[in-house]
Amino acid sequence: MNGKEQLAHVTAPSLIGRAGGESVYCSILHHYFGFSSFRGIQQDIIESIGAGRDTLGLMPTGGGKSITFQVPALAQEGLCLVISPLISLMKDQVMHLREKGIKATAVYTGMTRDEVITALENCIFGNYKFLYVSPERLSSELFQAKLRHMQVSFITVDEAHCISQWGYDFRPSYTEISQIRKLLPDAPVLALTATATPPVVEDIQRQLGFREPNVKRMSFERKNLIYSVRRIRQSREQELQELLIRVPGSAIVYTRSRQATRELASWLVSQGITATHYHAALTNREKNERAAAWQHGEIRVMVATNAFGMGIDKADVRLIVHTDVPDSPEAYFQEAGRAGRDGQQAHAVLLYDSRSIAVLRRRIEDTYPPEDYVRKVYEDACYFLQLAMGDGFGITREFNLEEFCRTFHHFPVRAYNALQLLSRAGYIEWADAEENHSRVMMSCHREELYTYHLPPLMERVLQHLLRTCTGIFSEYAYIDEGEIAHALSVGEAEVSEQLVELSRRHILQFVPRKFIPYITFRQRRVESDDIVLPPSVYRDRKRELEQRIQTMIGYLETSECHSRYLLRYFGEKDAQDCGHCDNCTERSPLPRIDDAFVRQRILAFVAEQKPTSFLDFHFPDIPDSVVGRVLHQMMEEEEIALSTPQEAAAS
Ligand code: ADP
Ligand code: MG
Repeated sequence: MNGKEQLAHVTAPSLIGRAGGESVYCSILHHYFGFSSFRGIQQDIIESIGAGRDTLGLMPTGGGKSITFQVPALAQEGLCLVISPLISLMKDQVMHLREKGIKATAVYTGMTRDEVITALENCIFGNYKFLYVSPERLSSELFQAKLRHMQVSFITVDEAHCISQWGYDFRPSYTEISQIRKLLPDAPVLALTATATPPVVEDIQRQLGFREPNVKRMSFERKNLIYSVRRIRQSREQELQELLIRVPGSAIVYTRSRQATRELASWLVSQGITATHYHAALTNREKNERAAAWQHGEIRVMVATNAFGMGIDKADVRLIVHTDVPDSPEAYFQEAGRAGRDGQQAHAVLLYDSRSIAVLRRRIEDTYPPEDYVRKVYEDACYFLQLAMGDGFGITREFNLEEFCRTFHHFPVRAYNALQLLSRAGYIEWADAEENHSRVMMSCHREELYTYHLPPLMERVLQHLLRTCTGIFSEYAYIDEGEIAHALSVGEAEVSEQLVELSRRHILQFVPRKFIPYITFRQRRVESDDIVLPPSVYRDRKRELEQRIQTMIGYLETSECHSRYLLRYFGEKDAQDCGHCDNCTERSPLPRIDDAFVRQRILAFVAEQKPTSFLDFHFPDIPDSVVGRVLHQMMEEEEIALSTPQEAAAS
C-alpha cells in the first residue's frame, strides 16, 4: 500500500474497528509518516479511539503521542479537533502535516478575526483533516458557531493534565472543553498526557465526561536512565565541568535564569567545551539556529531554561544536568527524560547546595504572593493604564511588564504571578508576548501577479514567499523574516520593509509579529479591596505547589531508589529498584574520570611547565582530588619524582 489513491479507498469509516482496520492504520503510518511499525501502546490507543471509545493515553514524553491521533484521524472521514496549549507546538505540527500534503490549520489568540474566519471556514468547506485550537479560543462565540457546521471525527486533548486542578500545570481555559463536548455529542474524545498522578488520571476522565473509564497506559520506567543527586562542593561550574568529562556526548544543562544560561555557556566555551544557550527571550531565528546546531551535534552542550525541550527530539542525549531544583517532580521527570531516547545508557544529575531547599520554599511565596500584594498589583496596573473606577469592561491595552515593575518598584517574578492570579480569578486576561511569528497571505489572484512591476528586492521577497509557503493564496502562512533575510542574503529590516510595502500595495496581507504583551479587562475596574481570589485559584493551588515542592525536597533527601521514588509519585506502586542510581549503588554512578587521561595530562604538564611543587599541578577541568590521587600513584610507581631545586638544575 503506498499510493495516495489507494489510501483514499480505505478511509471509509466502515473499516474502522473491524478486522482489517489494523492494516489501514499501518499503511497510513507507513505512507504518511514513514515508520514501519507502531511503538509501545500506540496501536492500543489508536484502536480504542478508532472504535469510538473515549480514551486516555498515558505515554512518556517522546513516546509518540501525536501519531495516536494523527493516524486514526486520517483513517476516518471528517475533521479531528485538536486542543493544544502551546502555540509554537501547534504551528510546528500544522507545518509538518502540511509538508506531508495533509490539510491542517490552527486557531489561537493573537489572530485577527478575518484570519480566524478563514481558518474555520476552511474546516467547514475545505475538507480539512486537522483543526488545532488553543483552549482560550474554545469559549468564543465565533468558534462555537462555526464548530456546529464541522463534521468532527473525534476530539483530541493534548497535554490533558492541564484540565485538572490537581495537575502541576492547570489551565483554566481547558475546563471549556466540557462545553465543546456538549456541542459535539457524537465525537469521542482522546486525551493524551505524559504526566498524570493517580488523582489526575481520575480527574481528567471526569472533567472530560468519559462515557466509561478507559485508560491506556505504559510504565514510565526508563531502564537506561541513571538518576543521581549531587551536592555542589566547590562551584556549579566546576561540578558541571567534571560531569561533562565523566559523561562524554551530547548534554543539556537546565538552569532557571536566562542570565545563568548565558554565563554558564560562555564559561564552558572558555574551557574548550562547545556550548550555547537558549531561553524564551531569544528571537525565533536564534532559537532555531541554536537548537539545530545542538541537534546536529555541532555543539555539544545546550545550556537552557525550561523553554528548551518541548518538541525537541534528539535520541542520543547522554547527560541532563539540573543546576537548580525544578519545582515539580512532573517537570523534573520530563526534562530528565530527554536523555537516552536511543535506549543507550544516559545520566540525569540533579545538583543542589545548602541553599537549595530554602530557594525551593521561597518559590511558593513567589508563585502565590500574599493576597494583599495581588490587590496592590491590580490597583497599580489600573493606575498604570489610567483606568478609572468602573471603567474598563472589555478594554485591551498594551502592557509592558518590565516598565510596569520599574515604575511601581515591583519584583518582576511576583508581579508576573500576581497578574497570573488575577487572570485566573477572571479580572483580566493577560497575554505574555506569545505571538512571535509574523504571517502573510496573498490578497491578489495568482494571475494578477504577472501584471505587477516590482523593484528587484521586493520581487525576490515575493518569489521567495511563493516558493516556500504553500497555500498562501487561501490562508495565512507563518514566516520568519530572519530566515527570509538569510536565504536572500539581505538584512532583516529590509525584508520587513518589503513586506510592509507589498501589503500597502494590496498584493499581500502582512501581520507583523507582536512583542508587546497586553491586558484585557474582563470586568469593570473594582476597588482592590473587593478583589476575591477563590480557593480554586489561590488556596488549593498553593497547597498543591507546596506538596510538589515537598516531593522534590524528598527526592533530594531520600535514600530510596531515585527511579522508584519518581515512579511511585506517578502511581506505579510496584516499581522495582533500578539497581544503578546513586542510592541503589550507594556511590556515584557516574563513570570515573579515566586515570590514564589524567596521567597523560600530568606528564605533558611536567614536560612543558617544569613544575617545582605539587601545588603547581592544577587543571581547571579535573578536580584537584583526582589529580592528587593520580600524582600519588605515579610517585609510588616512580613514574615521576620530587627533586630538590639543585637536582632539577643539574638534570
Ligand atoms: P510525544 O508527544 O509523546 O512527546 P511525539 O509525538 O512528539 O511524542 O513523537 C516523538 C518522536 O517519536 C517523533 O519524532 C515521532 O516522529 C517519533 N515516532 C512516533 N511514533 C513512532 C513510530 N511508531 N516509529 C518511529 N518513530 C516514531
Ligand atoms: Mg506531544
